[in-house]
Amino acid sequence: AVMQPPALTESVTRFLSSAKKILIGGEWYAAASGKTFPVYNPATGTVIAQVAEGDKEDIERAVKAARLAFESGSWPSMTPSERGKLLWRIGDLILEHLDELAELESLDNGKPYTVAKAADVPLAADIFHYMAGWTTKRHGITIPISVINTPGVQYHAYTRPEPVGVVGQIIPWNFPLLMAAWKLAPALATGCTVVLKVAEETPLSALRLGELLMQAGLPKGVVNIVTGFGETAGAALAAHPGVDKVAFTGSTEVGKLIVKAAANDLKKVSLELGGKSPNIILKDANLETAIPGAANAIFFNHGQCCSAGSRLYVEQGIFDQVVEGVANIAKAIKLGPGLSPDTEMGPVVSIAQRDRVCSYLDIGEREGARMLAGGKVRTGSGYFVEPTVLVDTRNDMKVVQEEIFGPVVTAMSFKEFNSDLVNLANNSVYGLAAGIWTNDLSKAHTLAAQIKAGTVWVNCYNVFDAALPFGGYKQSGWGREMGEAVLENYTQTKAVTIRL
Ligand code: ADP
Repeated sequence: AVMQPPALTESVTRFLSSAKKILIGGEWYAAASGKTFPVYNPATGTVIAQVAEGDKEDIERAVKAARLAFESGSWPSMTPSERGKLLWRIGDLILEHLDELAELESLDNGKPYTVAKAADVPLAADIFHYMAGWTTKRHGITIPISVINTPGVQYHAYTRPEPVGVVGQIIPWNFPLLMAAWKLAPALATGCTVVLKVAEETPLSALRLGELLMQAGLPKGVVNIVTGFGETAGAALAAHPGVDKVAFTGSTEVGKLIVKAAANDLKKVSLELGGKSPNIILKDANLETAIPGAANAIFFNHGQCCSAGSRLYVEQGIFDQVVEGVANIAKAIKLGPGLSPDTEMGPVVSIAQRDRVCSYLDIGEREGARMLAGGKVRTGSGYFVEPTVLVDTRNDMKVVQEEIFGPVVTAMSFKEFNSDLVNLANNSVYGLAAGIWTNDLSKAHTLAAQIKAGTVWVNCYNVFDAALPFGGYKQSGWGREMGEAVLENYTQTKAVTIRL
């Protein structure tokens, strides 16, 4: 019998029953055009909410509200300590609504409720708690200077870290709440104000977060949230002359459009883009952890992770054992609606995403890849794609070079640990993450140093922490998320020189 997902809890039902609007200056508004668009449950294909379709006019109003909040009012006059406490309170409020937010996320994105509850929501709270500490710990320095053309004259010079101003943030659908949190927390910690454009596929949890921000006492206009589409609302935000900086997470393709839009007035840009990350298993690795680790590297969040370990490289001699192990795990993964308690993998986020993954499966087949597991779309309602393992792949194949952003891993063997392996791993336009499985410390450190990626995981994968910087080399992006490093994205350094 097909298991019915449990009924929605009262708090989520109540949230969904009210009109989903745009947050500007602390108030909720319908779109200026009056238009709305439907949001779907990817497990069933049914509409769960109608959401305001923000566009240029709404972005205009939101940027105005953010500018006003940045220049005057209680936000710029708030002490760093007060700002820190506010951020901490937001983290607490997220945890207090853990069940509700996890349910909403699962409903909207398709991911298992258990995963949203164990990962997405607590990690979202964590970045606010972590960033709360930075508000009081960002400071300038004094610099001894010796101006050569004014001998004998004394100067006192120092730097001031200042917020960059009004920030436009554009986020994707794979971790809707967490991406909002990763973006908002550092911007608020540094004293910026924000216009956040959430993904059209998954706007709900960020709207609930918007309510919690107001409940926490965030001054009006400090965070404004606009729902709407990328080519309209997103493009208007990236190009808006009143925005000082754009922070974007999404595809490399759209990242390039963001850079072009922002080039008009040279606003600052940070980008967290795609990946095609190598996951390397050496012969001496502990296969009891490496095999499930390799499966988790690609199948976590249905492969809809920019950091997914989508290129598996296995040393000759253990290749068959490893790929069979990964394929067996793939075959045993239980697909189902995210809200069913025994679901291990939910649907992909949308019909468009399902078709995109399928087109890559077709391409792979035509290129000569063989499917050791999966490869099929589940018929019936919902957007389910089987976790798939492709072998007989070559490095020049599209499925090995292009980001699929679905539960599809390509596996290849390599001869031995040498520079060819490094070249293989680095043979990509991307450079977001990499995995290495080995018990040989020397090999682990050597590879970790030589791989061109912003994150390297050794004997683990997809380990994230608010204190660890995350971001890409090459076409995987500009700048870093999280850690102390992300504060750079939102800070201007001013040098002040005083003649004594
Ligand atoms: P994905 O492939 O994960 O959907 P996208 O890069 O298409 O990633 O989308 C990420 C975010 O960028 C979404 O919020 C989307 O609405 C937005 N977006 C898409 N196209 C544009 C654009 N031309 N300008 C600005 N934002 C865009």
